[in-house]
Amino acid sequence: MDKIMVIDDSPVQAEFLSSILKDDYEVSVFHTTQEGLEAAKAGGYSLILLDVVMPGMDGFTLLKELKGTELTKHIPVILLTSLSDVQYEERGLLLGAVDYVTKPFSPVIIKARVNTHIQLYQYQMQFKEQAMVDGMTGIANRRRYEGESQIKWQEAVRFGLPFSICMMDIDKFKVYNDTFGHPAGDQVIASVAKTASSHFRRATDLFARYGGEEFVAVFVGNDGRSAFEFLREIRQAVEDLHIPHDPQVGQWVTVSIGGVTVIPELGSDYGFYLKIADTMLYDAKKDGRNRVVWADERLTQMWERPSSH
Ligand code: GH3
Ligand code: MG
Ligand code: MG
Repeated sequence: MDKIMVIDDSPVQAEFLSSILKDDYEVSVFHTTQEGLEAAKAGGYSLILLDVVMPGMDGFTLLKELKGTELTKHIPVILLTSLSDVQYEERGLLLGAVDYVTKPFSPVIIKARVNTHIQLYQYQMQFKEQAMVDGMTGIANRRRYEGESQIKWQEAVRFGLPFSICMMDIDKFKVYNDTFGHPAGDQVIASVAKTASSHFRRATDLFARYGGEEFVAVFVGNDGRSAFEFLREIRQAVEDLHIPHDPQVGQWVTVSIGGVTVIPELGSDYGFYLKIADTMLYDAKKDGRNRVVWADERLTQMWERPSSH
């Protein structure tokens, strides 16, 4: 059930709105704009019904604040007022309200308008989500990786957390396509994505398709050694899928993995460490493929022992 916020200093009005909507939505009522603003920032609301005239911060000021705040600017706001002056309507809409209703209002009209804006909001959220997902694999796409990795990096800097960047690439995949065909190759990319992504279980983990048959992962909280061991498990899990490869290059489809763990400081350059992860991947390829090469916090390399294959 979508959550709707009603902000109105009049308990009678707020209760009236709440009674109209509570069968279809989860309605929270606040009597001051300050309380409403705090709750909106905490998240989860799909719509705000906002009274314009209130003591203290008025509805217009709150609307400006909501639209200027990253956490709340996407929430649609319907203004409620007894002011029938067209200038107020103009002002509210210019400030970013999606709709404007004058009191006294009819329950049917309120309900219909709320339903419309909730539906539009749901479409918008769905569209945003889809724009961040890779169609072939269902995992995060490059766009989502580009945006989220930077936010995660900044957080790691702020909290002094060890941060790992990992690049993964399917081995001899051109040969696979040449042997089994492009559609079969697509299936393999999806299988590898599914298996690898199932290992990234923490809410803060991000595993994404970087492009083609390459993947990228960023995650916090592991030291270099444990990140290395973790990626060895994933590499093994892909091998254990036992997807037959062209016998000329190997028995099964495998991946090579390179990565780095760093405790980033203020001014540390993400791009620099991404390049190191890429260099580690290159080393894993050069060393014979189907292995993990990792750089730890002191940029000391760890190599998966080739004799284990
Ligand atoms: P290496 O072990 O060095 O990574 O060899 P490779 O053949 O995997 O590397 P290369 O970069 O030469 O070729 C990657 C191939 O991956 C080329 C392309 O045919 C294939 N590929 C990239 N994207 C897709 C895709 O979306 N679907 C399929 N089926 N194949 C793809
Ligand atoms: Mg490859
Ligand atoms: Mg490649």
